[in-house]
Amino acid sequence: MSTKHMTRKATRHISQNEGLIFEKSSPGKAAWKLPPLDVPEVDPAKLLGKQERKDLGDMPEVSEIEIIRHFTRLSTWNYAIDLGMYPLGSCTMKYNPRVNEFVARVEGLANGHPYQAEKISQGALRIMQTLSECLIEITGMDAITLQPAAGAQGELTGLLMVRAFHESKGNARKKILIPDSAHGTNPATAATVGYAVENLKSNSRGMVDVAALAAQMNEDVAALMVTNPNTLGIFEQEIHKIADLLHDKGGLLYMDGANMNALVGKVRPGDFGVDVMHLNLHKTFSTPHGGGGPGSGPVAVKKMLAPFLPTPVVVTRADGTLGFEYNRPQSVGRVRAFYGNFGMFIRALAYIFANGPDGLRQTTEDAVLNANYIRKRLEGVFDLPYSTPSMHEVVFSDKLQSKKGVKTMDLAKRLIDYGFHPYTTAFPLIVPGALMIEPTESEPKEELDLFIEAMKSIAEEVEEDPQYVLNAPHNARISRLDETAAARKPILRWKPDNAV
Ligand SMILES: *Cc1c(COP(=O)(O)O)cnc(C)c1O
Repeated sequence: MSTKHMTRKATRHISQNEGLIFEKSSPGKAAWKLPPLDVPEVDPAKLLGKQERKDLGDMPEVSEIEIIRHFTRLSTWNYAIDLGMYPLGSCTMKYNPRVNEFVARVEGLANGHPYQAEKISQGALRIMQTLSECLIEITGMDAITLQPAAGAQGELTGLLMVRAFHESKGNARKKILIPDSAHGTNPATAATVGYAVENLKSNSRGMVDVAALAAQMNEDVAALMVTNPNTLGIFEQEIHKIADLLHDKGGLLYMDGANMNALVGKVRPGDFGVDVMHLNLHKTFSTPHGGGGPGSGPVAVKKMLAPFLPTPVVVTRADGTLGFEYNRPQSVGRVRAFYGNFGMFIRALAYIFANGPDGLRQTTEDAVLNANYIRKRLEGVFDLPYSTPSMHEVVFSDKLQSKKGVKTMDLAKRLIDYGFHPYTTAFPLIVPGALMIEPTESEPKEELDLFIEAMKSIAEEVEEDPQYVLNAPHNARISRLDETAAARKPILRWKPDNAV
């Protein structure tokens, strides 16, 4: 291959900040050609009147191959789990098996309509009921709603039920306790429901400080929201004691179950005192995530909260058929149109059935093993703020690298050059300069090794040439962004005027 050719190739596929890549139009080109007219020609103005459009504005004029190449090229600019590891801590970016997609596209399911009569929706109802039963068994809870469309909406639904429960006893209570290791959505949810949020400090092992909880707990507390494992990737070892302290004063234990990837098949929240919890089907149960698809955040509850579940609830009728029950006077009402993201229920159920109980347990074990493999091999290269055992994710800090002025965000930018999606930066907040890494069980050892080598190599670069890391990424489509400008003056869509 000649140098000239390589340069051209590089300009097209590798160089940075290519605004011009969008400017393909030249007058007179078209991607279509109509056959000769074989009917009498009609004046478009007569046919369309005022609706006739004489000017196509800025519509690009391009040939078919240019359109195909343009969109095919753009499709290769995204990072995806189908290309490599996505170690975004707290997000459980696992691989979504293709068989899930196949099942979700089965005609009778994909073409079902929410207004279709119950008697011809028995299959869909059965899927909802079976998924509910599986999730109840996995969590050790008593009842569930599949309605919420995301983890955060699950939290909202859960706390609305907590409030309705306390109100039904004549006292709504005022406060929600939230550990400083909780996910950020937790305090936001509690505030949205109208509760005052009281922060709970973690102890030196990265767990809820039980003595502090005992001191803060009183009859004003409606619930404690605990993320378990918490955002440090640490299991709350005193969860029984935490539950007892809550229950002794009539409070409820809410568990943010988005991290169930570390627990499925091993322990059940219902067995360690949790009263209400949400799951993220789009994390633990492999349904598409983020831009890839809508979420699903079912909420599981203990018996005493069941009357407050959103309506409708799937029930088995006297004649053995399934149906939706709407008449539940204590319900918090609907939290979403229809029944939830049904396509996600199919995918999650396909995943559960494909794995079976042993497979799901193995998934958990592999997720924890993978995180600990990374931890062991990067310990010492990066600072490990808590030595408590890690579950499915590991949190390092940039303490060693920041001595050279290189922060977690800079390391993450450089990781892009090595062909990886960045880990989660600067979260959880209780670790200054956090690097939060969650490999999930999907990753083979070879990919973990590549990631580890990339991280070690970046740490060496920080010692040798910190400025080079500070200027990263060097090989990405777009160089370092001005993040302040991006937040203050976002450009959310391409327009001809700001193309370059
Ligand atoms: C992802 C996550 C959430 C929020 O879930 P969404 O579906 O993004 O709303 C809440 N808590 C934890 C611990 C999470 O990881």
